[in-house]
Amino acid sequence: MTREGHGVFAAGPQNRCEALYYTKNQGLAWLIGYHRSMFSYRHAFHAGNHADVLKHITLLATMRHLMQKEAGITLIDTHAGAGLYRLDGDYSQKGAEAEDGLFKLLAAVEKRDTLPEPVQDYLEQIASFNANGQARIYPGSPFLMHKLMRHASRDRLRLFELHPTDSKSLTSNIAQLGAGRTVTVSREDGFEALKKLLPPPASATGSKRAMVLIDPSYEIKSDYAKVANVIQEYLKRFSTGTYLVWYPIIPRPEAHDLPRRLRTLANQAQKPWLNATLAIGRGAGDEGGLVASGMFVINPPFTLKDQIQKALDVVGPALARGTGKSWAVESS
Ligand code: SAM
Repeated sequence: MTREGHGVFAAGPQNRCEALYYTKNQGLAWLIGYHRSMFSYRHAFHAGNHADVLKHITLLATMRHLMQKEAGITLIDTHAGAGLYRLDGDYSQKGAEAEDGLFKLLAAVEKRDTLPEPVQDYLEQIASFNANGQARIYPGSPFLMHKLMRHASRDRLRLFELHPTDSKSLTSNIAQLGAGRTVTVSREDGFEALKKLLPPPASATGSKRAMVLIDPSYEIKSDYAKVANVIQEYLKRFSTGTYLVWYPIIPRPEAHDLPRRLRTLANQAQKPWLNATLAIGRGAGDEGGLVASGMFVINPPFTLKDQIQKALDVVGPALARGTGKSWAVESS
């Protein structure tokens, strides 16, 4: 899995392996009264899959643009996960989902001399968490967001994770960064937490800036309505924020309706939006896992459509594997 041609995975600045913290004692969660369906999702099973590829390319490309403005920004990850994942660990190997995502992308682009900027950036960010040209560690959204934060501008990162084990892992992983109060982890409901954070405090230049990643696992049907409700509320309370919503494309009415509702809400608020989708299609022997997802961005950078289009022109063919493959970017 080396990517020496593009300097990817050639070297990592830090070895964060020690920062990984896993406890497999999931049973404890049930004992303290949490509902099983709420906490059966563990992102470690899915890290580096096609959905992460789309989500994290879009996240990084959005942030790169937002970071061009000097004023500090509040970054919020309402559903943060554990932060770092082992691609060679028990969890990911059970699902082996990175095989149809990150690893497939790496193999496909190995011989290319150039890559679209967002794809190059994504692969380089992952490489920076890995030493010796091996893709063993996958950085989730909290770590990707932290990598692009600017200390001089006093950016702040606010992370929320409800799962008892993943929240503990995230706290431990983030502690290794020694970032102090600029990065906080809370075991709270990320939807509710927005109330305390938006509108964000003014930066040194007086502007109020925030980017919010909303990335639920949608294990609970009500997550779809909650996403739409918070977008509706915060388009009123803080209409200039950049909101990124990941959603699964699956045959259930709530999932089907969500991007349509988000589009309607953005149009009603007269805010620009972008919707990027990636369907890898059903492969032979496919056991029925997730094959398609989307990223809906409200108030996207004006450069994002072109960038994601170019990224999907590479990522789409690289990951596509069968019936139903498609990729597209549409915008207001
Ligand atoms: N954003 C992460 C990334 O890209 O690396 C992945 C997050 S994963 C898809 C969704 C996470 O949300 C899970 O770890 C789950 O435990 C957590 N979760 C579920 N409901 C939540 C809620 N209401 N508030 C905060 N976290 C929640």
